[in-house]
Amino acid sequence: MGPVASLAPETLDVDAARDLFMEERPDAPQDKAITDLLAEKADVKSLVREALRQAGQFPFSQVNDRIIRFTGRFMDEELARELLAVDFEDSGFNDDIAEVVGKLGSLSIPLLRPFFERNDQARIPLALRILENLPREETVDLILTHWPLLWGQYKEWLLDAVEHIGDQRFIPVLKVEMREGERTESEIFRLLCLINGVADTELKRIDRELEIWKKREKRLQGAMERGDMGALLREPLEISLQCRSCRTIHHYTVEKVFVAVGAKDTVIEDKIVCKKCGALDHYEIAREGMVGVTARLALLTLDPDSAKMDHDEITVIPVRSVSAFGKEMALQELLDKYEKKLSKKPENPELLIGFANALRQIKRREDSIPFYERAIKNDPLSVEGYVSLAE
Ligand SMILES: [Zn+2]
Repeated sequence: MGPVASLAPETLDVDAARDLFMEERPDAPQDKAITDLLAEKADVKSLVREALRQAGQFPFSQVNDRIIRFTGRFMDEELARELLAVDFEDSGFNDDIAEVVGKLGSLSIPLLRPFFERNDQARIPLALRILENLPREETVDLILTHWPLLWGQYKEWLLDAVEHIGDQRFIPVLKVEMREGERTESEIFRLLCLINGVADTELKRIDRELEIWKKREKRLQGAMERGDMGALLREPLEISLQCRSCRTIHHYTVEKVFVAVGAKDTVIEDKIVCKKCGALDHYEIAREGMVGVTARLALLTLDPDSAKMDHDEITVIPVRSVSAFGKEMALQELLDKYEKKLSKKPENPELLIGFANALRQIKRREDSIPFYERAIKNDPLSVEGYVSLAE
C-alpha cells in the first residue's frame, strides 16, 4: 500500500481503512476521514479490542495515540476497563487516556478503585489524573480512604488532585501532613482554606513562610540579572532528601554540601532531622535533589571569578575524594572495601569503626550504630567509637 498522503479516503473499503488506521506512522490529515469511515462501517468493538491488543504489544507505537482517541469516541465501562488494562509503560499516553476515560464521569470511579486497593504503581498516577477532574463526594471518599498510601508513595499526583478538587474535607488531613519548608503543600492548604472560607490558625504561619520564599526568589533573580554569581553561590541550597527510615521525601535548606569531583560522593554537612519520623542524619539525596547540586557546581566551573571564591563562603563545595587504604576512592567504594575486609575479620574493632564512620559519612547514621557498638564490645578502649556514638 502506498503512502497515506496519496490516498483519497472516500475510495477505501473497511479492510483497507483498518490497515491504514493501524499503520505505524505519524498522524495524517486523512485520519479524520479514515476513522469516520471505520466508526460508521466497521465492527467498532472488535476493532478497538484488536487495536488495544496491539497497543499492549507495542506500548511506544505512534499508532497508540490514534487508538486511544478512537476508543474514546465509543467510551463505555467495558472499553474503559480494557483500555485501562493495557500496559503502556512510560510511553507518555496518560494524558490522553485520562481524557477519554474521564468522559465516563463518576462511572469511572468503580473501575479505578481496584488500582488503589492493590497499590498498582503503574496506574495510580493515571487514576489520580482522571479523578482530579471529577470533583465529587465519591472521589473525595476514595482518596481519603487510601490517603496514607497516596501520601507516602504518590504525593505529587495526590497534591495535584487535591488542588483540582478543592474539597473542604482535605483540609484536616493535609494539616496533619504539613511541615515547615514544604512549599507546595502549604500553598495548596492555603488555597483550600481560601476557596472553602476556612480561617485556619496555620494560615498566618504559611503567609510568613511564603513571604520569606518570595524574598529569597527576588534575591536570586536580582543576582541572576546582575550576573552576580558570587551571590548565587552563597545562597543556601534547598534540596530533596529521602529518609532511609520512613522513606518520605522532604525539602531541606542546607548551608554546606561537599561534592567529590569525579566521584558520586555528595555529603551534606548540616545535621538533618527527618520532618516525618525525626531520624537524625539517615537519608539519601533524592534524584531531583541532585539537580540543584549539579547546577551549583556548573555555575562554579563556568564562572572563572567564582572559582577563586573562598570555599567558606559558598554552599556547594567541590572537594577531593576520600583517601583511604593508600588511594583516593568514592565513599561507596570504601564501603565495599570495608565489607570485604569485615567478611574475613568480622570482629576487628578498627575495621568496624572504619565501616561505621563511612556509613555515617554517607548519612546512614542509624545503620552505623550497631557497628560502633560491636567495636566497643570487642575493644572497650576503642575510644574513637565512643566519641562517634556520643555525637
Ligand atoms: Zn523519616
